[in-house]
Amino acid sequence: MIENTHGSGVPTVSIFGIPVSKWGMRDTVNHLREAVESGKPHQIITANPIMVMAALEDPAYNVIMQEAELIVPDGAGVVWAAKKAGEPIEERVPGIELLHELMKEGQRQGWKVYLLGSTKEVIQETALRLTEQYPGTAIVGARDGYFGPDQDQEVIDGIRAVSPHLLFVARGADTQEPWIHKHKHSLGVPLMMGVGGSFDVISGKTKRAPKAFQKLRLEWLYRLLSEPSRLPRMAALPKFAVRVLREGENLKKSS
Ligand code: UDP
Repeated sequence: MIENTHGSGVPTVSIFGIPVSKWGMRDTVNHLREAVESGKPHQIITANPIMVMAALEDPAYNVIMQEAELIVPDGAGVVWAAKKAGEPIEERVPGIELLHELMKEGQRQGWKVYLLGSTKEVIQETALRLTEQYPGTAIVGARDGYFGPDQDQEVIDGIRAVSPHLLFVARGADTQEPWIHKHKHSLGVPLMMGVGGSFDVISGKTKRAPKAFQKLRLEWLYRLLSEPSRLPRMAALPKFAVRVLREGENLKKSS
């Protein structure tokens, strides 16, 4: 089977035209280490079915996905769709686990990290806990995610001033990916990744789904039960599933 590659030799499967990496965690981290060494800007997107559907419905969001240097299979639904397309993905690469793996790698490489997003309390606690867990990876800056476009330049200047290797942005999928895309060439950071609610989990404010839910691929259900306000956006999930089932092997051709 012909493997698609996206950017620098990453094997990808196209899910409705979105090129998702087929790599598991280990290859992903190795690739990202090289990306940091290259010094060039890389936007990493952790894709779930809601984001894939958003890209199909919103051309601007589609451009952001297409121009990302790496899209990893965060959601179980994406892994399932790849299987249906006849191009299985090695394993899920959940954003929060990738964050931890990069913090771990940072200890070996002496990386500097900037944390952007969530509330003041959450970001402070997240920085503390990550420093405790990964003392060899320096958190060189942290700032909450509640600012408007009028403060973008000030935020960018603050990040540039400490020249981090990694920038994690936790501001919600509809804000963080467009923000990184818009500013990725002015930030001066080699690796930028949106991490959604990860700081809330790391700080202890919210809990990740219990292992049983993760194993049953029902992490989305756990989040829905704990945050019912998520229901409207989850309407995308059955639409995604129906489309995958209808298009089966052909889904990798459609866009
Ligand atoms: N957040 C932020 N600025 C905003 C909106 C949200 O920093 O303007 C943070 C919020 O505090 C949370 C994270 O973004 O830590 C993810 O938010 P949410 O769960 O609403 O986004 P989702 O992951 O559902 O897209």
